[in-house]
Amino acid sequence: MERRTTAGARAPLSGGLATHRCVNYNRHARCALAQTRRGGIPISARTFTEAGDGRLTIAIPAKGRLREPSSHLLEVAGLGPEQPGERALAFPCRNAPVDVLLVRAADIPEYVQDGVVDCGITGADLVKERGARVRELLQLDFGGCTLQAAVPQENEATAVEDLAGMRVATVFPRLTAELLSERNVEVELVDVTGSVEVAPRLGLADAIVDLVSSGNTMRTNGLRSLGVLFSSEAVLISQEDPDEDAEQLGRVFKSVVDARTARYLMMNAPAEALPAISNLVPGRRSPTVIPLSEDGMNAVHVLVPAAEVWQLLPKLEEAGASSILLVPVERMLG
Ligand code: AMP
Repeated sequence: MERRTTAGARAPLSGGLATHRCVNYNRHARCALAQTRRGGIPISARTFTEAGDGRLTIAIPAKGRLREPSSHLLEVAGLGPEQPGERALAFPCRNAPVDVLLVRAADIPEYVQDGVVDCGITGADLVKERGARVRELLQLDFGGCTLQAAVPQENEATAVEDLAGMRVATVFPRLTAELLSERNVEVELVDVTGSVEVAPRLGLADAIVDLVSSGNTMRTNGLRSLGVLFSSEAVLISQEDPDEDAEQLGRVFKSVVDARTARYLMMNAPAEALPAISNLVPGRRSPTVIPLSEDGMNAVHVLVPAAEVWQLLPKLEEAGASSILLVPVERMLG
C-alpha cells in the first residue's frame, strides 16, 4: 500500500512503466514483464513473437472478465483460434496469419507500446492507468464498466467534489489522480492492490474509487456512489503508428462489432402494405422488395438496429407483414 496526494501525483506516478515488477518465469510466467522487449515474454510463448515471418501477434487477457469475450471475438471474426491447452500461454490461428498471446490484462498496454506484440485487447481503464503510448483502434462493445467514487452510506458527501481532503483508496492511482485533478479535487490517494471496497471499513481510507458494472458489490459493502469519473470498455490497441496488418485486423473486428448491433429482418407483405412498412423500418437504406410468384405479394428484407426489434415486430404485423423472420448478422462492412 502506498500513499500520495493528487496534487503531486503525476510526477511519482509517471515513470517506471518499463522497469517495475520482477520476473520469475518458473513461478508465474504470466506476470513476466520485467523487460519490455521480446526477451521479457514467457519462454513458451516466444516462438510466436520471434518468428519474424510476417505473422501478426495479438495479446488477449489470460483470465478474468475480458478473457472469454476476447476469445469469442477472434472466433466470430473467423480467425479460427486453436483451442489453447490448460496451461498454454500462446496459440496460433488456423485461418489467418495471427498468433495469440495470453497475458494479464493489465500488462497488455505495455506489451503493445513496446512492440512485444502488434496489438492487444484490454480495458480502456487499464490503458489509461498504465499511461501507455498506444493507439486505440476500436471500442469492442464488451467489458463495459465505470470508474466511480464512493463513500460509506453514513458519510455526508454527496458529490465527487466532496472528496476534497479525504483519503481515497484505489487500484487506479494514476487515472484517479488525473481525473480528480481535472476537477480540482485534492485528496490523499491510498494505493491498494485489491478488495478496495473494504478499505473504509478497515479504516484505511474515507472513500474509494473503483470499477463498477452492476453496483452490487458496492451496495453489499455499504458504499454509496458519488458519481462516475470515467466510462470504460474493452478496446483493441496497437502501436501509435500501426502497420497495415494491425489496421486490417481492426477493420475485421469492426465488421463483427457493428454486426452485433444489427438484425436482418425478412417478411412477406402485400403491395398495399409496403408504404406503411417502409415508414416503420428504421434501416439505413430503404428495404429490398422482391416480388413473389403469388400475385401482389412481396418479400421485404431490411437491416434494423437490434435494440429496436422488440417494438418493431408487433407494428409490422399490424401493418400487414406476415412470415416475419429475424436473423443475426455475422459481419457488416461498408
Ligand atoms: P478482471 O481481469 O476480471 O479483473 O477485469 C479486468 C478488466 O475488466 C477491467 O480492467 C475492466 O476493463 C473490465 N471490467 C468490466 N467490468 C468490470 C467490473 N465490474 N469490475 C472490474 N473490472 C471490470
